[in-house]
Order: sequence, then C-alpha cells, then structure tokens
Amino acid sequence: MGTGFDFELESESGPARAARFRTPHGTVETPAFMPVGTAATVKGLDPDELHTIGAQMILANTYHLHLRPGDELIRDFGGVHRFMGWDGTLLTDSGGFQVFSLEGLRTVSEDGVEFRSHLDGSTHVFTPERVMVIERNLGADVIMQFDHVIPGQSDEAAARDASERSVRWLARCMKALDSLRSDGASPISTARNFPRLPGTTFPLPAPSQPQALFPIVQGGIHATLRREATRAILDLADWIGFGVGGLSVGEAKPDMYRILEVLNGELPRDRPRYLMGVGFPEDLVEGVARGIDLFDCVAPTRMGRNGAAFTNDGRFNIKRAEFRTDPRPLDPECDCGACRRFSRGYIRHLFTADEMLGLRLLSLHNVHFLVRLMRDARAAIRADRFAAWSREWLTRYHSRSPVIA
Ligand SMILES: [Zn+2]
Repeated sequence: MGTGFDFELESESGPARAARFRTPHGTVETPAFMPVGTAATVKGLDPDELHTIGAQMILANTYHLHLRPGDELIRDFGGVHRFMGWDGTLLTDSGGFQVFSLEGLRTVSEDGVEFRSHLDGSTHVFTPERVMVIERNLGADVIMQFDHVIPGQSDEAAARDASERSVRWLARCMKALDSLRSDGASPISTARNFPRLPGTTFPLPAPSQPQALFPIVQGGIHATLRREATRAILDLADWIGFGVGGLSVGEAKPDMYRILEVLNGELPRDRPRYLMGVGFPEDLVEGVARGIDLFDCVAPTRMGRNGAAFTNDGRFNIKRAEFRTDPRPLDPECDCGACRRFSRGYIRHLFTADEMLGLRLLSLHNVHFLVRLMRDARAAIRADRFAAWSREWLTRYHSRSPVIA
C-alpha cells in the first residue's frame, strides 16, 4: 500500500466488513457515507457541522470545480482542503459521470471527451491526462480515474466498449500521474499565491502530499464484463482501493445487487471498495451486505432542500399539511442538531416561509442520518450480527414507510 495510506480490516460479518482506512488527512472508519461537496461545499453545511455529524471523508466534484472557480485557482489556495476549510479526508471524482451525462453537449473519442460547459457553453476537453492534472491541482487524498460511463441498461456490446476503454484510460491516468509525481514537489506546495489567513491554525499542506489513484470497475450489469474488468485492472498495478462505477444509473436493483456479489468475489479483501453515487439508505445497507465500504450521494442534501426527511421508518415530506401542528422532532430517534432543538411544525413553517434555515436543518438531519446508519452498521459488523441487524432494519424501513416524499 502506498505512502500515507493503510486499510486495516477489523472484523467481518458475512461479506460485510468493518475497517479503518488511514489517509494523509485522518482515519475513516468504514463502512462510511461520504457527504458530497459538489462545488467545494456540502450544500448548506459548514465543515464544523460535518465534523459534529461524524463525517470523516467527503467528496468534491472535479467537473464542477474545473469549470468554476477553476482548479488552478484552487491549487493556488492550497488545494480543496484549505480552500473550503475541510481538514478531514477528501476524495475527488474524475468528472466522468458529469461529462457523460451532458447528452448532446459532448463528443466521445478514444482520446477523451470534448464537452460544452453547462454554465456558459464554452468548450472543454477531458482526457485521462488532463483529468490527472486537474485532480492533482485539487489535491484530494483519493482521486478517481477518468472513466467511460454508460447508462445502466446498456447492452453487452456498449458495456464492453466502455469498460475496456475505461481500463485503457486507467493505464493512461497511471502513467500521467507518475510523470506529474516525478516532476517533483506537489503543485500545492509550489503554489504561487499561497494565502496565509491571519489567525488560522489550519495546517499547511504537507509538501508532496501523497494521493491515492483509485481505478473504477465498469461493465454494466454484465457479470462477465465486470470480472474481466477487475482482472485487467488488477494486472495493471497494486491499487490502494477500488471504485465500483456504473451502478444506480437506471438498472434494476436486483441487477445492482447481483453485480456487487460478483465483485465481492473478485476484488481483493484487504482494500477499500467504494460504490460510486449510491445512495439511498436502503442501498447503503444492501451495499454493506455485499462487501462495500464507502458510499456517496447527493440525495440527503438535494432531497433535504425539497423537504424530504429520512427516518428508520422510511421518508416523509415536511411540507405536508399534517405537520403544521406537529410538536415532535423530524425523527424522534435522531440526536442531530435539528432534531434536538426543533419541531416538525417549526421546520414546516420555515419551508412554507422560504426561510433558508429550513433547507439547512433538513440537509443536516439527512446527512447525519446516513452517517449514523453506517456507524450502526459498523457496530453490528463488529458484534458479528450484521445479517440480523440489516434484516431488522430493512424490514422496518420498507414496511412502515409513513409517507413517501
Ligand atoms: Zn435529526
């Protein structure tokens, strides 16, 4: 395992695993949910709140930060950690998912993807080499390879094409990153305008801070392709961890679960596995049950801004009239800052009156809910009772769904 990273498997309960993933910015206890900071902010929440919630690792988006404010500007501020004031572990995606979502605004070739910005229509090109420069400028602990993402229901030929291209792009990412590293100090430590904010105790980034490049296993819902992709990736290098991409993109849930079971048998047990873009509470529990360690999704904050609250009994929308006079907290079992202090009636009022605190409180609660859910899963794994815990949790979550948001 590379400098600055370590993955210690603590206990297993069936395929579910509890581990400690050490990175240059701290230890992540897994399984874990990573809140998404698309534009170098987990919408509505500041880093102190994320720490209080118990989040140990968050994600930022390469596509969005490259377009605005620009990865070179962020480099000159010392990288995303320092730019946004987050001193925990950070991961950047590669922008693959975003550029392939720009239907009609992109052209794919073997070299890379040319696309038009959703902000101003300007033309950009992402190649594996270019994305490595950008992710190096952003300076996250874990950086994802540039991959070819396709819709979930793609047929085998399309899935094979994209999966094999992703492996070729991985080799190019690896080569590009090696040559950037051999250029000497990290771009962050040589940044021109390194700001010294008066009165801050935020640590300076270490010179030549190590970054772990994670490959992404593609292959759609085709088990053979997933196996072939994993083996091709393992032939390239000794990876610190693995991304699982191309799931939760429109395929049926049983297909996702089946592919996770295939990958559980293929991926090395002693390395972290990150299921990208997943998900909802039940997806996290089902993923842990199939050997996944890390998750991310915008759902808790995006749905929170629409008034949806997660609970162990399913989710409900706070905007419904029935909550106008409800004195209970969003979730009576939750100890987050929103549930400890405020009633459903008050939060509903904030939404009705378009007060920004309402959006913040729902986001806070939902992120806390997923972080805590993974902490509970971890405790069950360590007690070797994950199968019973997950069965009870899923039964309750599915059977009592009070009001679907
Ligand atoms: Zn709460």
